[in-house]
Amino acid sequence: MKLATQLIHHGNFEDQAGSIMPPIVLSSTFERGDDELSHPKGYVYSRLGSPNRTALESKLTVLENGVDTVTFASGLAAAMAVFQSLGADAHVLLPDDIYFGVRAIIEKLYTQWRLSFSLVNMADVAAVEAAILPNTKLIWVESPSNPQLKITDIEAIVGIAKPKNILVACDNTWATPYFTRPLDLGADITMHSTTKYLGGHSDLLGGSLTFKEKSPTLEFTRAFQMIGGAVPSPFDCWLLCRSLATFAARMPLHATNALGLARFLEQQPAIEKVMYPGLESDLHHVLAKKQMVNGFGGMLSINVKGGQDEALQLVSKLKLFRHATSLGGVESLIEHRNSIEGPSSLTPKNLLRISVGIEDLEDIIEDFKQAMIEQVKRI
Ligand code: PLP
Repeated sequence: MKLATQLIHHGNFEDQAGSIMPPIVLSSTFERGDDELSHPKGYVYSRLGSPNRTALESKLTVLENGVDTVTFASGLAAAMAVFQSLGADAHVLLPDDIYFGVRAIIEKLYTQWRLSFSLVNMADVAAVEAAILPNTKLIWVESPSNPQLKITDIEAIVGIAKPKNILVACDNTWATPYFTRPLDLGADITMHSTTKYLGGHSDLLGGSLTFKEKSPTLEFTRAFQMIGGAVPSPFDCWLLCRSLATFAARMPLHATNALGLARFLEQQPAIEKVMYPGLESDLHHVLAKKQMVNGFGGMLSINVKGGQDEALQLVSKLKLFRHATSLGGVESLIEHRNSIEGPSSLTPKNLLRISVGIEDLEDIIEDFKQAMIEQVKRI
């Protein structure tokens, strides 16, 4: 069966009423057998597992073509489980352009466990190889990266990591498996902030790790989930399953609109640079064309001519685009990343990150046209 069909039907469970859509099972505890040890229906206590979580994990496993998925209460809780699995004294390679929250996990939470890291340009495979240390245990990839949309050659990274027994984990939140399939390219783990495109409606928080193979890291992260307890609620799992049913319908719309907006912005005198791997002019286009399937995703970033003030002016003039953090919802959002990332940010001050929604493309472009009128006069 094809993905769109599977995401609607796979993993659903039946109830006594014969409901076509699985209900939300809110119970925190489940009945034991008379022997006090067995659990006839497979569930014990909802931190350990619940029917809605099982349904969600099963759909995500199919979506990423893995063997199993472990879900969490947020994307960062999922990322944390991977870092926790490395043990003390490990070294990790992180992209120099990366969602700043993942970097914050190591800088703020794990330094006391002597987890060290190096930032490296993941678009440069030779630089990645040169940055490997004897205690490097993990290479963390984000492709496209957040917020400068660098593309990493996942197969090439796997090629240098495997002989040294280094784990490769890909944060696939931005690309989604609709456009990039890290496990098929040899990565060990694919991670999501399910808050974004998988949720798709900006109304839930969640995270997931899908594994290519059974492994000690899978066992550890499953234990970290069940014992540590940073689990998604039955309601959030249910919402996610509902969203996954329309995932394959939503994603091409995001990509078509993003490409259309990128092509328009590329022609505008007020815009210095458009970062979108689907543009022929983009530095990463050739690799993106080879690695990405079905299109290039719904995210893009722009550098506005004139610096931070001009960038903020532009944001303030947009009417359809709401000014908020996060991404991947049906609605278009825009954000000045340097402000939110704070003083240690490596993001240019004139950069705006855009999550292109699935509104009509004409309305999206019209909004930028009216917002740029004043800007163009000042140039
Ligand atoms: N990874 C990426 C690429 C993100 O963009 C985000 C959030 O914006 C996260 C991880 C963190 O996810 P969450 O906010 O669900 O913890």
